[in-house]
Amino acid sequence: MTDYDWLIIGGGPHGRFAAASIAAAVPAARLAIVDPMPALAAWRERAGACGMHYLRSSNAHHLGARAHGLRRFAQAHGFDGADELGYYRRPSRALFEAHAEQALAGLTRIDDTADRVVPQAHGWRVHTTGRDEYDTARLVLALGPNAPYRPRWAAGCEHVYDADFDMNASKAARIAVVGGGITGAQLALRLHEHDHAVCWVTRSPPRRADFDSDPCYAGPRCLTPFTETPIEDRTALLAEARQPGTLPPDVFARMTAALAAGDIAWRRGHVVSKDDNGLVFDDGRRIDADRVILATGFEQHARPDSLLGATIDALDLRCDRDGHVFINDDLEAVPGLHLLGRPASLQLGPMAGNIKGARLAGTRLAALAKRGARNAA
Ligand SMILES: Cc1cc2nc3c(=O)[nH]c(=O)nc-3n(C[C@H](O)[C@H](O)[C@H](O)COP(=O)(O)OP(=O)(O)OC[C@H]3O[C@@H](n4cnc5c(N)ncnc54)[C@H](O)[C@@H]3O)c2cc1C
Repeated sequence: MTDYDWLIIGGGPHGRFAAASIAAAVPAARLAIVDPMPALAAWRERAGACGMHYLRSSNAHHLGARAHGLRRFAQAHGFDGADELGYYRRPSRALFEAHAEQALAGLTRIDDTADRVVPQAHGWRVHTTGRDEYDTARLVLALGPNAPYRPRWAAGCEHVYDADFDMNASKAARIAVVGGGITGAQLALRLHEHDHAVCWVTRSPPRRADFDSDPCYAGPRCLTPFTETPIEDRTALLAEARQPGTLPPDVFARMTAALAAGDIAWRRGHVVSKDDNGLVFDDGRRIDADRVILATGFEQHARPDSLLGATIDALDLRCDRDGHVFINDDLEAVPGLHLLGRPASLQLGPMAGNIKGARLAGTRLAALAKRGARNAA
């Protein structure tokens, strides 16, 4: 007999929502989360680092069980109009996090880091850096985004999503923020608010879009044809549906106003190198900067030394060109091993790594847990 029915490695929004969904579907399930960090710690760190005030997603994308859970929570806990922005009523970070804390409370967490997962005759064994072993019938990897992405010229540059990023680490007079998406824009605005002289470096002019992917994929209108498409052909659909490097209306408005007022400088172009004095572009132009901060998102492929990368290598899991793993309807890469987040995009669509993706995954795993419990009875 295994120690657990379900072990979930990673207790961020995705892992915790999956755990809560399974526990609600099968209250008797023996389930735990392995994570050295408290709930939502990684989320808070990244959102805080870039200075996010409102979520980009709508108030329907939250981590509670019920569809209108966030709205009801806001009413019951004194959050007001300032906590829901615009047509989509995008929640403030404070509202989203307060609701998530309440909705996801009460799950068992093993305070440890998983460093290896090994298939067994009936399930999986998880080895941790604390030198423990746990056996589980089903294993879920909800490990969050891959490593921060650094362009080739930027090896050694600091990245806003580095675990030790500190906006106030230096008193640099001129700071270049590289990255034209929502993270770079928010970071540049935050630095300006703290009286830093900032130059925002982007490859394209600021582009406005409500969401980071086609919202049609939040529902069956796009998701059904997507899952009916042969899995090999879904990579291209994902690339088409995603809108990286875009800004939601509030950030777009704040940034374009700051650029127009000259509060933030802007350089458009392709950076090819960095030296002691600043950045050099492919057309020979350069800008002076004492500090360069990357806001260039995350790598598409898991590094071989990460748990996901090592698992992909050890089990020879099939991936597409963009780092998505081939999984079945139950989000299983091989029997009993489930993947969540961006790696699960070939089943969950372009929002797999978003809060909506967490909800979609939770629904699928809860249904599987229920089927399993029925079959066992
Ligand atoms: C700044 C920012 C803003 C975003 N805003 C939105 C938004 O508005 N709307 C939206 O839908 N999406 C948004 N996203 C995307 C996405 O919803 C978040 O990135 C979300 O936090 C992802 O959750 P996660 O659980 O996959 O990852 P994480 O929050 O990173 O959680 C992963 C957890 O796994 C743990 N872990 C990793 N490896 C191991 C291991 N080996 N052993 C044990 N534990 C491990 C980590 O400690 C961490 O706690 C945003 C992303 C960022 C970066």
